[in-house]
This record gives sequence, structure tokens and C-alpha cells, in this order.
Amino acid sequence: MDAVWQGVNDVVRLAFRASDQELFAHEGTHAFFQLYKKPVDLPLWLHEGLAEFMTVVNDKGLRSQKQSWAKVYAQRGTPIGGILTRQAAQGLQYPEYNVSYTLVDFLVAAGRAKFKKFVDNLKDGKDQETALKDAYGWTLDDLQRRWRVYVNKVLARGN
Ligand SMILES: [Zn+2]
Repeated sequence: MDAVWQGVNDVVRLAFRASDQELFAHEGTHAFFQLYKKPVDLPLWLHEGLAEFMTVVNDKGLRSQKQSWAKVYAQRGTPIGGILTRQAAQGLQYPEYNVSYTLVDFLVAAGRAKFKKFVDNLKDGKDQETALKDAYGWTLDDLQRRWRVYVNKVLARGN
């Protein structure tokens, strides 16, 4: 049921700010990753970050808007551990979708093969700390620290 309510929430949220195409990219990505391999739920931030990532792939013009929220978090040093461990039933706030997008953007930039390994590890039932450590050699704290450097140094330059 959580997935249904999450889907409804997404439809309402996106309907107010997005084209049908953007909505399709977002929801299509959810469907894909839910069906990919085993029906194991990915962490909420990863599910939403992937959906937003594919939306940006579909429309590059959305990129800077999504990055700007992450820059606010990174520049203020706002902890993102609560986003990384959020349960689906609790949902994400709008700025947190954008932080999740940049987390996926960062992880993909750090290595597409590593990113696939990370997702496959999760789909094999590993918890995210173990899945991340195996794929990237990082703890969740390492991820937070490296994400902050990426947003402050790389995204702040504009690319
Ligand atoms: Zn969504």
C-alpha cells in the first residue's frame, strides 16, 4: 500500500509543476526499478533520486533547478542522514527530492559500474550500508561527506 500512496503523492506533486512528459519519466523510472530483478524495495531516497535523475535525462533544463536545493543543504552543512534512512511511509519533502537527485547524480558520476553494483547489491537483499561499502568502499557517512564536497566544489562551479 505504501507504494500506492507514494504513487498518488507523486502524481499530485508533479501535476502542479510538471509537464506530462516529466511525470512519465518519473513514474516510468519507479516502475522500472521496482520490476528490475527481484521485487525488493530500494531505499526511498534512491527510488526518488533515480526517478528525478531520469526526469533530468529527459529534460536537461530541469537540472539547475534541482541542484539549487542541494546547494542550500550543502552550503549550510545540513545533515542528510535523515534522508538516507527515511522510510517510504514517511515520504520526502520537496527539497529532499532534489537532494536525492544530486545523490544519484553524484553516485553515477563516481562510476556507472559501481552504481549498478550498488543497485544490484540492494536488489540482492543487502542493507544499504553493506551495499554501498561493497560497491564504492564507502560508509553512509563517507557518502554524506563526499556528496557535500561534490555539491560545493563541482556543482557550485556550474557544469
Ligand atoms: Zn516518485
